[in-house]
Amino acid sequence: MNSTYADSVMSTVTSRNPAEPEYIQAVREVVETLDPVIKKRPEIGRLKILERIVEPERQIIFRVPWLDDKGEVQVNRGYRVEFNSALGPYKGGLRLHPSVNLGIIKFLGFEQIFKNALTTTPIGGGKGGSDFDPKGKSDMEVMRFCQSFMSELFRHIGPDTDVPAGDIGVGAREIGFLFGQYKKLTNTFTGVLTGKGLLYGGSLARTEATGYGLVYFTTRMLRDRNTDWKGKKVVISGSGNVAIYATEKVQSLGGTVIALSDSNGYILDEEGIDLAAVKRIKEVERGRIKEYLGVRPKAVYSDGWEGIWTVPCDVALPCATQNELDGASAEILVKNGCIAVAEGANMPSTPEAVECFKSSGVSFGPAKAANAGGVATSALEMAQNSMRLSWTFQEVDARLHGIMDGIYDQCRNAAAQYGMDGDLVAGANIAGFLRVAEAMLAQGLI
Ligand code: GLU
Repeated sequence: MNSTYADSVMSTVTSRNPAEPEYIQAVREVVETLDPVIKKRPEIGRLKILERIVEPERQIIFRVPWLDDKGEVQVNRGYRVEFNSALGPYKGGLRLHPSVNLGIIKFLGFEQIFKNALTTTPIGGGKGGSDFDPKGKSDMEVMRFCQSFMSELFRHIGPDTDVPAGDIGVGAREIGFLFGQYKKLTNTFTGVLTGKGLLYGGSLARTEATGYGLVYFTTRMLRDRNTDWKGKKVVISGSGNVAIYATEKVQSLGGTVIALSDSNGYILDEEGIDLAAVKRIKEVERGRIKEYLGVRPKAVYSDGWEGIWTVPCDVALPCATQNELDGASAEILVKNGCIAVAEGANMPSTPEAVECFKSSGVSFGPAKAANAGGVATSALEMAQNSMRLSWTFQEVDARLHGIMDGIYDQCRNAAAQYGMDGDLVAGANIAGFLRVAEAMLAQGLI
């Protein structure tokens, strides 16, 4: 980018958001790849499209008081950042994790704008959450928290305004509690949340969608290297919804997933992960990945999640959380012969790691493209809710597959068109940005 323009955008973002390193990191990555676009389309610079995009349309911060099982009052902080509505109602998940703060929600919301644009479905970008930690809480505590959270959030959202969903710490249980409270407060039964249970408006394949979509996207990356999943050793970090369904799809395509992790450590099972056991431990018992040893004593458990990147593999899918894969880990993966990395989590690779993969010829699929299958299927859930009907699993999965192929094509084509052949990071940023920019140009000064 003509450096004065990039510098001026970055200096505004840094001075306005001084304590938000993740947000600044996410913006910098996008701004740095838009140089050729701004050169080709001077009106984008003149009308300050980028300066407008980096400033959220609305940021809501609220108190969430709730009673724990001892009858004591607890207070958490809730967030909803309604980032950009150029393409449709704000859309994006809610994250419940002690690390949540405004900067984390803003980085996620910013990424969501372009991710959602790449899906080509009519949704804008938003994100929310709280520093509440669901770990170790009873079902009733989680319910009371969710009800309190929704008692404030409900006035800001709606099926045509802002449609939250899950993210880290928010799955079917939490969406159910949030939906129940929204319904009670508004006396409406609507598609205001996605990731709902199948009995009350949820979509088949939404649970699997992020993981499956990630693997569909990575399949295209492998195909461009004239290869596929057969016989590949695959390391997947995390053991939540994204990691579990990525594992399922990799296994069905002939790859062997040998490692998974959680925030305490990782398991290595050279014979291939027993996914039924992991599902039981994580989805039913809400336990720790270490408990896998009880099922497969031959597996190895190591403390510390970072160590997972030292496991030699052909393909690595970081599916845990932001900045989990740094430059040093990337170098180890490359040295051990890894040929492809695709991001199932949001921004799991640090800028140094991304640079290392690019300069080493490793195929790299950035989050906003590779993990867009979840939100894409949320948009399909919204469509089914509007029509008051449900598609079959096969139908939703086929649409998801088509959307992921379309995202891959957009990234490849945009990179090629702007002289950065094969760079999926630049391709995703440019293709996503252009869709948002065109809509904003058409809608006037908003
Ligand atoms: N949290 C997911 C994401 O990062 C899904 C959001 C949604 O379905 O709205 O894209």
